[in-house]
Amino acid sequence: MAWVMLAVWAGLFAALSGALAALARHRPEETAALAAALDALLPQTQCGQCEHPGCHPYAAALASGSAAPNRCVPGGSRTRDRLLERLGIDEARERFPAPPVPTPTVARIDEMRCVACTLCLDACPVDAIVGARSFAHTVIAAECTGCALCLPVCPVDCIVLTPAPPLSDGRIPGYPGADDLASVRAHGPH
Ligand code: SF4
Ligand code: SF4
Ligand code: SF4
Repeated sequence: MAWVMLAVWAGLFAALSGALAALARHRPEETAALAAALDALLPQTQCGQCEHPGCHPYAAALASGSAAPNRCVPGGSRTRDRLLERLGIDEARERFPAPPVPTPTVARIDEMRCVACTLCLDACPVDAIVGARSFAHTVIAAECTGCALCLPVCPVDCIVLTPAPPLSDGRIPGYPGADDLASVRAHGPH
């Protein structure tokens, strides 16, 4: 009889430990620490293609369990794998297919039509646009990620996305660590 009681108590203790561990996992400071760790794995282009307003908001959603780990488009499968590993759900890879590989694009401003309103300067999350009031603006192609966030703010629609020109070292503009996009550069979209 004693061993039965011992087994019951052991079971209760294990269940309680599991519940406490789950609670501890969701303590705000641990969620914040996890969000910071996940944020460090993201490309930091702040492009919004994950449907969150930047990398840290996406990382925070991941840490709180309200976002899937395969939403970072520029990060591709490599970032998905790193997020899964950090979240401890590496075995579930098939449940989270890699995000689609985008065609690399870069913004271009028609300087003849630009009215120098400066609105696109604030809209660009990576400071890829240079200009000042009363001077035509231009895009630094090597910094532009093609996120298109500057397009809707332009009052005269003089910003367009064009195929990204290759950089001399073969990198994709704005995607310094995304192997998937480097593959696109080498082999074309797929
Ligand atoms: S898609 Fe990736 S790079 Fe873009 S904001 Fe979201 S997490 Fe950051
Ligand atoms: S598409 Fe526009 S907002 Fe996005 S990185 Fe390029 S210049 Fe900046
Ligand atoms: S938003 Fe359009 S018009 Fe205004 S500065 Fe930028 S490119 Fe020029």
